[in-house]
Amino acid sequence: MIKIAIDGPSGAGKSSIAKAVAARLGIVYVDTGALYRTIGYYVRSKGFSRDNIAGIISCLPEIAIEVRYENGAQHVYLNGEDLGDRIREPEISMYASAVSAVPEVRTFLLDTQRDIAAKNSVIMDGRDIGTVILPDADVKIFMTASNEARAERRTKELLAKGIDARYEDVLREMIERDYNDSTRAVAPAVAAPDALLLDNSSMTIEENVAAVLDIIREKCGGTV
Ligand code: C5P
Repeated sequence: MIKIAIDGPSGAGKSSIAKAVAARLGIVYVDTGALYRTIGYYVRSKGFSRDNIAGIISCLPEIAIEVRYENGAQHVYLNGEDLGDRIREPEISMYASAVSAVPEVRTFLLDTQRDIAAKNSVIMDGRDIGTVILPDADVKIFMTASNEARAERRTKELLAKGIDARYEDVLREMIERDYNDSTRAVAPAVAAPDALLLDNSSMTIEENVAAVLDIIREKCGGTV
C-alpha cells in the first residue's frame, strides 16, 4: 500500500493532478476539502454565521459523514444525502475555511480520513495531510502556484460547473481563505519539513502530472 500526500493552497491544481495520478496508478483519490465543505454546508443550512464557533460545534453531533466511491469518483454523503456540486459554491468555500479552523471539526474528521488511507492505497489532497493526517506518507508534495494563476484556474473551474464567478471576487476570497488556512492555530496549511515543493504556475496539467509521477517513482522506486 502506498500513501501520497498532496497539500497546498486553494486553486493550486491539487485535485485535478491528484485525480489524474490516481487513475494512472490505479489508487484511490481522496479529496479531503470536500469533508470540510460538507460541514460548512450543514452549518450554513442551520443559519449559523461563519464566526459562530459554538454554533459550529453544536452541529457536529447532528452530522454523519460517509465517503463512498462510485465508478471511481468520490461522493460525500451528509446524513445519507449526496450534496454533489452544492458544496462547490463560493460561499461554501468560505464556510469550509471557517469550520476548518475549529479544532473540534478537525478531530471529528480525523478518523474518516485515516480509515480510508488504512484500507486503500491513496493519493490524498488537502492542507494538513503530510503534517497531521498521514505524517508517515511515502511521498509528500506541497503544490503551489502564483495567486493570479490559481485564481484564474479556480474561476474557470467554477464557470465550467455553471457556478457564477468573477475573477476579482475569486482572487480576493482565495487570498482571504489562504490567509485563514495558513495562520490558524491548529493544523495550519504549511509544507511538512519533508515535503517537496512544486510550483506549477507555468506548467500544463500534463507536465504537472508527469512531474508528480516522477517524484513518486523516485521516492518509491519499483513499487509503483
Ligand atoms: O481543498 P478545498 O478548497 O476544497 O478546501 C476547502 C477548505 O477546507 C480549505 O479552504 C481549508 O480551509 C479546508 N481544508 C482543510 N484541511 C484539509 C482540506 C481542506 O482545512 N485537509
